[in-house]
Amino acid sequence: MSSSRPTNGETNVAPARDASKAWFIEKIRANPYDMIDWDHEFPVDRISSVCLCPRCRKAFAARAKLPRVPTPKEVFDKHEKQWVAFRCHLNVRMAKVLRDACKAANPAIPFTVYSGYQTPRTHSTYGVDWAEMREAIDWAIAGYSGNRPIVQRTMRALDGVPFTTGWMYVEKRFKAERPYPDPKAWRINLLRAVLNDEGMGFLIWYMPVLDGAGYWGIGWVAALVADFEDFFTTFRRDDALVEADPELDAGSLAVLTKGNERLIIVMNAGRAARDVTLRLKSVPPSARLVAYESGKRYDPRKPLSLKLRTGDVRVLHLKPR
Ligand SMILES: [Zn+2]
Repeated sequence: MSSSRPTNGETNVAPARDASKAWFIEKIRANPYDMIDWDHEFPVDRISSVCLCPRCRKAFAARAKLPRVPTPKEVFDKHEKQWVAFRCHLNVRMAKVLRDACKAANPAIPFTVYSGYQTPRTHSTYGVDWAEMREAIDWAIAGYSGNRPIVQRTMRALDGVPFTTGWMYVEKRFKAERPYPDPKAWRINLLRAVLNDEGMGFLIWYMPVLDGAGYWGIGWVAALVADFEDFFTTFRRDDALVEADPELDAGSLAVLTKGNERLIIVMNAGRAARDVTLRLKSVPPSARLVAYESGKRYDPRKPLSLKLRTGDVRVLHLKPR
């Protein structure tokens, strides 16, 4: 890979960039990839982690509209927030180089970036601001174990670019720094993940730590999604179609719709058993209500009482007779 060094002491990166792109195209063509993912996790807020050459600082001063080019020390002492934004912007430009190489090699391969959720910490510690990175990617992935607000915030930043959230079973195989999750709590976490990211599934960290209970949770949720795939791929959600007493939040009740059909999912992530009464609204004529797994039938026009033990998930399918 060649690079030239102009007499003013700045590095000319264009030849290196073009050579990288050519190398990348060649590698993608030579391998049967289904997807290209850039695991983007490097900090941009530490002096040792980023280039502070005159060329970079000059470009930074121009973009941040500074009156003069800052010294390396001033970059972090005076302009850290703007510097992080500038470096996130450069990472988007680099992502576009990789994306273009990916598309040149095979336009059918999605180009994705994995990083953290949309937070100031992700900008500085991982160098990604999804609000701009979305321009460069077909698909975004972030972890781990984010609750609904952080997942939804990330999706808002992505503004329609598909997003998959990640869940961590345990971090390390041989040193369980926290206890293995309760299997039923793990199942609820995965189900919430696929509801929070609107049917885009979940990424799991990671295969070596998974035991039977880990696979059980993945298998249960994957089977549910497979059995009702259209609900998850089209993903229309309208929780107001079911009234619950006591009231349930979005992490405990979800109502997906597909035409006149509905998929009602009720979860008890609490530590105590709970009794819940459901009333279905605007029930289409001649609809019937069938419980997933048990096949038990209910009259959808009557209140339905459920006894939920801790960790229980109940799924009810409202469909034409
Ligand atoms: Zn530089």
